[in-house]
Amino acid sequence: MVEKIRTFPPSPVNEKLRTYRKGELAGIVRVSDRCVGCDTCRTQCPTGAMMGEIGTRHYIDYDMCINCGQCLINCPFGAIEQMSFLDEVMKKLEDKNSFVVAIVAPAVRVAIAEEFGKPPGTLTVSNLHLALKKAGFHIYENNFAADQTIMEEGTELIGRVAYWELGLKEIEFEIKDVRPISWVKKVKLDLSEFKNKPLPQFTSCCPAWVRYAEVYYPEILPHLSSCKSPQQMAGPTAKTYGALKVWKVNPEKVYTVGIMPCTAKIYEASRPEFDSAWKWLKDKGLVTTKFRDVDAVLTTRDLAELFRRKGINPLNFPNNEEPENFEWYSGGGTIFGTSGGVMEAALRFAWSVLSGQEPPAISEDWNFVKVRGYTHPRVEAKVTIPLKKELRNETGLDELTLNVCVVNGIGYRGLHIKEVLEEVLAGTSKYHFIEVMACPGGCLNGGGQPVEPMGTSWIDPVLPLPLVR
Ligand code: SF4
Ligand code: SF4
Ligand code: SF4
Repeated sequence: MVEKIRTFPPSPVNEKLRTYRKGELAGIVRVSDRCVGCDTCRTQCPTGAMMGEIGTRHYIDYDMCINCGQCLINCPFGAIEQMSFLDEVMKKLEDKNSFVVAIVAPAVRVAIAEEFGKPPGTLTVSNLHLALKKAGFHIYENNFAADQTIMEEGTELIGRVAYWELGLKEIEFEIKDVRPISWVKKVKLDLSEFKNKPLPQFTSCCPAWVRYAEVYYPEILPHLSSCKSPQQMAGPTAKTYGALKVWKVNPEKVYTVGIMPCTAKIYEASRPEFDSAWKWLKDKGLVTTKFRDVDAVLTTRDLAELFRRKGINPLNFPNNEEPENFEWYSGGGTIFGTSGGVMEAALRFAWSVLSGQEPPAISEDWNFVKVRGYTHPRVEAKVTIPLKKELRNETGLDELTLNVCVVNGIGYRGLHIKEVLEEVLAGTSKYHFIEVMACPGGCLNGGGQPVEPMGTSWIDPVLPLPLVR
C-alpha cells in the first residue's frame, strides 16, 4: 500500500524531442536517485526506452517511451516517478467557480480498495461514486463513455467488414438499448469511406499502443480505429451535452478529470487535437476561452492520495446506490478494463447488428470470454455470425466468420506484437479485428495502479509464452 506519493506538476516535455508535439505531456517524468540499477524496469519496458547498465542509475529515452508506466509499476525501489495533477485538482475542488467532473475508469474501481486495506480485486461501485461526490466531483462514468466507444468502434468494424468482406456499397442497421431509457437509432453507412480503412481493424483506446504505432509502425495507422478512447469521448461530451443539457452549467466552468489506471492517459489528454468541445462551442458562439477536452488526469494512486488528504475512505460509503445521469453503463463498457474486453464488447455488438439477434447465452461452445487475454500474450479466435435475412439476400452468404486476435501487453521490446504487425504489413494477416493493450492483462495492470510487490512481472515474464487458440 502506498502511504504517500510525491507530486510533480504538469509541464510540457522538452520541445527538442522528436516524437512529441508542442504542449504534449509525458506521464512518466524521471528516474530518481533512489535507483540502484537493479535493471527490473528495463526487462519490463516494451520499447527499449529504459536505458542503463546493471548497478548504475537508469534513465529514459523519452523519444522512445510510450508512457505505459510498466517501469514504474515494476520498480522494487519506487525510483520511477509520474507526473501528477493532484495539487491542481485539489485547488479546483476548492474553487466555487469550477464544476469538477470525474471521468472514472473501470480498472480504478477494482484497484482503489487496495489503497484502503482491502485485497486486490475488491469492487467499488456506488461507494466510489459517493466518495468522489463527497470530495466535490460530479460523475461521468468512463464505462458510460466506453459504451459510446464500442458503438462507434463496432460500427466502424461493421463498415470495414461490409466493404472488404461482403463487398457492399452501403449498409443499414439499428442500434438500441433499454437502460436507463429505451431508445433505437437507425444507422446508414455509405461504405465508400472505407476504401481507405483496410482490414484488419486495430483498437485505438490504449494511448500507449497508439503512440507505439505512431513512433514505431506509422505505416500501420490506416488500420487503427478512428474512434477516440472512452476518456476522450467523455471529456467533450461532458463539456457539451453534459454542461448544456444535463447539469445546466457554463461549459467554461466545467473542469474534467480523467481518473485512470494509466500514466499514458496523461499524455493522451494533452494531445493537441483533443480540444473538440471548445471548437464546437466556439463555432456556436457559446464560449470564448480556449480549453481542453480533458483538463487533468489522476492515476488510481493519485486518487487514493486525494482521498487521504481529504480524510475520505470510499469503503465507508454504501455500495448499492442506484446510478443517475452519466453513472449508467452496460457490461460491455465495464470489461474495457481487462485485456480482451474491448474485443468481446465489439464482437457482441457486431454479432447483434449483422445477425439481427441478441448474442446467444454464454455456454461451453459459445463463449466470448475466451477472447480475453489473461496471462497469454496473444489469443486468437474465430467467431461465426449467422447473417440476417437482408444481408443473406444481398450477399448470397449465410454466415460470416471473423478471425480476431488479442495482444495482451506489447511485451519486452515488442515481443508480443511484432509478428502480428509484420503480417498485417505484408498482407498475410488472417485477422479482421485486433485488440492491443500495452499493459499485460490490460488496464487492470496499468502503470497508474497501486504498486504491488511483484508488479506485473509475474503476468508478463520476459520469455515468450505460446499462442493460445
Ligand atoms: S527498477 Fe527501479 S531501481 Fe531498478 S534499475 Fe529500474 S529504476 Fe532503478
Ligand atoms: S516501461 Fe513504458 S513508461 Fe517506462 S520507459 Fe519503457 S515505454 Fe516508457
Ligand atoms: S493498457 Fe490501459 S493502462 Fe495500460 S497503457 Fe493502455 S490504456 Fe493505459
